[in-house]
Amino acid sequence: MQEFSVIDTYFKQYASQRKDVLAGIGDDAALSIVPAGQALVTTTDTLVSGIHFLADADPHAIAQKAVAVNLSDLAAMGAEPAWISLSLSVPEADEQWLAAFARGLQEITHYYSIQLIGGDTVKGPLSVTITAQGFVPPEQALLRSKAKPGDFVYVTGTLGDAGLGLDFLRGNLSVPDEDNASYILRRLHYPTPRLLVGSSLRRVANACIDISDGLVADLAHILKASNCGATIHVDKLPLSRAMRESVDAEQAAQYALGAGDDYELLFTVNEEQKGKLETALTNTNVVYTCIGQLTGITNKLELRQQNNPVKYAVTGYQHFS
Ligand code: ADP
Ligand code: MG
Repeated sequence: MQEFSVIDTYFKQYASQRKDVLAGIGDDAALSIVPAGQALVTTTDTLVSGIHFLADADPHAIAQKAVAVNLSDLAAMGAEPAWISLSLSVPEADEQWLAAFARGLQEITHYYSIQLIGGDTVKGPLSVTITAQGFVPPEQALLRSKAKPGDFVYVTGTLGDAGLGLDFLRGNLSVPDEDNASYILRRLHYPTPRLLVGSSLRRVANACIDISDGLVADLAHILKASNCGATIHVDKLPLSRAMRESVDAEQAAQYALGAGDDYELLFTVNEEQKGKLETALTNTNVVYTCIGQLTGITNKLELRQQNNPVKYAVTGYQHFS
């Protein structure tokens, strides 16, 4: 199969069509319209075989996760997604693999009403790079740098599930309950970008980040960018039933604090805006939990349990270790 027939067969044919795209796949570059008054938000993430997924991973899941992790970054900016492009490196034109990958891509792009507008296809080690673009009114973008001492710290969903799933997949952990096992594997392979939460937090949250490398590691980015510290209550970290039933409380806290790949949002809200939060997030049907508060002591993260200081050795996902 030639490059062009791969593109036509698997990507062009099934691409959803948006009105704001004047030229998508098939020209030298994509041509599209940014709505008046909106800022263009752009993000890229690469998933490499053997590093971000196992070589024999399901191509359907690889495609969906590659898109989802990028949409999660848009969500963390408060943006609404519009377009993606795909740079795909594959060792060979394996038609079965490509068909399943394309189906995963097609499903997620249709679900979020976004369009695949271009990309590149090359022969090489398996790796998938997605660039996602979306819009947000410039003054409403959720930045890491706008948190303030006194803000309350919230997270969506439950924490640590994907890390638990990865340890289960690697055989480091037994999860006897089948529902729990399939839940944590789903959390690992099919993360949900919290797009509706992100856009609903415009004008409510001061700062926001998505948790890709672990709670402590990602909170540290906000603390650094905003010159704040934080007190986090370990006993308030939201845990799934699967987590509570599969490991003890100490291990659960470790996963919730340190494990990556959850793609939940962490955001900060000041006292005055707290009342608005419930109204803003009710329609999203996503649970959210207050886990602590920001302080004025730059970069100092204090963990507490039953309000007493505790220590946990947490590293988070390290890209270069
Ligand atoms: P060029 O050589 O001009 O860069 P290509 O041959 O790489 O063009 O690509 C032809 C068209 O197909 C372009 O519009 C490009 O954006 C699109 N394209 C290539 N690979 C992909 C892909 N994996 N997914 C989506 N579109 C792709
Ligand atoms: Mg090219």
